[in-house]
Amino acid sequence: MAEANFRFYEELNDFLPVKRRKRDISVSFSTPVPVRHLIETLGVPHTEVEIILLNGESVGLDHPVSDGDRVSVYPVFESLDVTPLLRLRSAPLRRPRFLADAHLGRLAGYLRMLGFDTLCPMLMLDSELAALSAREHRILLTRDRALLMHRVITHGCYVRQPSPREQIRYLMQRLDLCGLIRPFSRCITCNGMLEHIAKETVVDRLPERVRKNRSEIRRCTGCRHLYWKGSHYERMCLFIGSLCGDWSE
Ligand SMILES: [Zn+2]
Repeated sequence: MAEANFRFYEELNDFLPVKRRKRDISVSFSTPVPVRHLIETLGVPHTEVEIILLNGESVGLDHPVSDGDRVSVYPVFESLDVTPLLRLRSAPLRRPRFLADAHLGRLAGYLRMLGFDTLCPMLMLDSELAALSAREHRILLTRDRALLMHRVITHGCYVRQPSPREQIRYLMQRLDLCGLIRPFSRCITCNGMLEHIAKETVVDRLPERVRKNRSEIRRCTGCRHLYWKGSHYERMCLFIGSLCGDWSE
């Protein structure tokens, strides 16, 4: 049996039992074993890890661990200067797309409101979600850490917060999304793109007050739902302002 010492930093400790947090953890194993395997055996999904130092050298997830090694594991947000080190993922996905598990429907709605392509399938096995995330390069969002441990997943995010508003706030910060928002370009219900249409063509589907005012109408190219700027719109604008500061459509 070989033995190595692990230490997890910052919020990665949330995944550990209380008695193992913020201290060295001794792990016994049979060599050879990739460092990813030992990290996940301890309860931390690989998607939450940004940097691994093995005896002070930065290594990838598949690097083997040997007897006597010392492993330091850092989360995505760790305020040390990481520029000289090897990050586990080459680059962030340029225009991020998401795949939310079925328990995160309201978070998916917020992401769509902000213009991000977000799928949220109701009935899908974990293995299918993992495969879809990998195939379409979608960031998998879940509160199920076992799901994030699927090997094929390269970009995933464990959502700690129970409240959807806190969830979207966390994601905006963690993935630095504010510069990429396109509010009200996508259907909150089905993820379809919205298109501008002439009011006359759908006047029979509009409430009286909307027929009379000057608000522009958008229609979902998927489910044909109609959107206009009502009181709900004002509330959403305030919320977006609270997430990202000033913005304009
Ligand atoms: Zn729609």
